[in-house]
Amino acid sequence: MKPATVKISSVALKHNIQTIRKKAPYSKIIAVVKANAYGHGVLFVSSAVERLVDGFGVARLEEALSLRSNGVTKPILLLEGFFSIDDLPILSVNNIQTVIHNQEQLDAIKQAHLDNPIKVWLKIDTGMHRLGVSLEQVDDFYDELTNCKNVSEIGFVSHFSRADEIDCDYTQIQLSRFLNATKDKQGDRTIAASGGILFWEDSHLEYIRPGIIMYGVSPTSTPSSEYDLVPVMTLTSSLIAVRDHKKGEPVGYGGTWISERDTKIGVIAIGYGDGYPRNVPTGTPVYINGRRVPIVGRVSMDMVTVDLGPDCQDKVGDEAILWGKELPIEEVADITGLLSYELMTKLTPRVLTEYVD
Ligand SMILES: *Cc1c(COP(=O)(O)O)cnc(C)c1O
Repeated sequence: MKPATVKISSVALKHNIQTIRKKAPYSKIIAVVKANAYGHGVLFVSSAVERLVDGFGVARLEEALSLRSNGVTKPILLLEGFFSIDDLPILSVNNIQTVIHNQEQLDAIKQAHLDNPIKVWLKIDTGMHRLGVSLEQVDDFYDELTNCKNVSEIGFVSHFSRADEIDCDYTQIQLSRFLNATKDKQGDRTIAASGGILFWEDSHLEYIRPGIIMYGVSPTSTPSSEYDLVPVMTLTSSLIAVRDHKKGEPVGYGGTWISERDTKIGVIAIGYGDGYPRNVPTGTPVYINGRRVPIVGRVSMDMVTVDLGPDCQDKVGDEAILWGKELPIEEVADITGLLSYELMTKLTPRVLTEYVD
């Protein structure tokens, strides 16, 4: 009997990459594997997809180095750039590309002594207003980078703030600014992450940067099956008790739920200590033996309780699915007010990983 476990499907992963290729057939793919591949296991994901993609995107130098030390040879891009001038020789030796988004980074790359020049991507702020040089600064940065001996090649990158809002014209404005700022300049361009890939075809350009859709999860609350994506992760655990429960009696901390009938309560070995959100309301579904049953009472550190119904046939040891193909994570996200991104990356190291197929 297995406690909290994520089952990871490489078949689903490969299917999703095919779907992404069909959506953006003329673009190269930078597979985003930051944050332990959104909780899926970065080493497994990178080796499963390396042949199918054109490079990897990560957020930290340590993430890039762990890919290299595990044999990844495809290009790797630091999406937020490097954090210290001392990182630059490491990038150079390990053939890691970096975003440059501010003056400090530009100064550092001009001053560094590198054996091999590196490819840099100039990040342009087109309206997200988080990272990037302003539209007015683009020409100056481009000239400086063009004349920098430590730079082998220049690309351009930007990021949408509202690409998941299909009827919002802000994405089109950001795209126009990006195209305008980069026209008449040599270099690869990339602006589309998952939302851009699914909803804004004109934004695909030379490179796309899929994260969440590669894992088979929608960037919106629409279940991903609508976009021909298959969830890569299934979060499961097991029933460790099936108990008779009397009408009028409460369950769990705070006694927040009181049964209106005699019933059977199932106890599942997963809780907020595994990263399952503590704030799920009563009624949040769990999939057991072909049907959905509601969570009742509060989530504990190591357990949750469900109302299996008076006539249930469920037994100790039966599998419970918290999210996956049978129960879209988008639904759990919607109910809890969390993002699917958060649910996946909050899982703790206690959760076991099982690679299926
Ligand atoms: C995380 C990230 C992505 C991937 O975003 P998704 O919405 O998961 O596709 C792409 N680009 C940058 C710069 C990122 O930080």
